[in-house]
Amino acid sequence: MTEQRNFTADSFYKFVSEKKLMASRCKKCQAMFLPPHPICIKCFGIEMEWVELKGTGKLAAFSAISVGPTCTLAESHDRNNPYVVGIVKMDEGPKICGRIHGIDPKSPEKIKVGTHLKLEFPEQKAGGRAYLNFRVVG
Ligand SMILES: [Zn+2]
Repeated sequence: MTEQRNFTADSFYKFVSEKKLMASRCKKCQAMFLPPHPICIKCFGIEMEWVELKGTGKLAAFSAISVGPTCTLAESHDRNNPYVVGIVKMDEGPKICGRIHGIDPKSPEKIKVGTHLKLEFPEQKAGGRAYLNFRVVG
């Protein structure tokens, strides 16, 4: 049984730093939320529980980004070295945004919606929140 933590972004990222992908699930209607919500937006229930997801899913949508936020310059991303951000539909149902690796950001026309992905947990950066990284399976 998971220890009780508030259903907040802070709790979510704390779990990520512990290499766990955790969603909140409504005890009343079983709707699942990722990142977690403290209140069910389907039935307005307030009884939530934590559920650990396997970390596997499929690419639902994506964008290759050539001009990103300033922090991506430190990662050597620019118009000649784009990166891909995507929405991943987890096998358990909920969707979440993350970086997509193992595909060619310079050829976005070759990236396929439905590609199988697996979550990789990054090493925690000092002071920063770890973002979610997904890698193409196989
Ligand atoms: Zn509900």
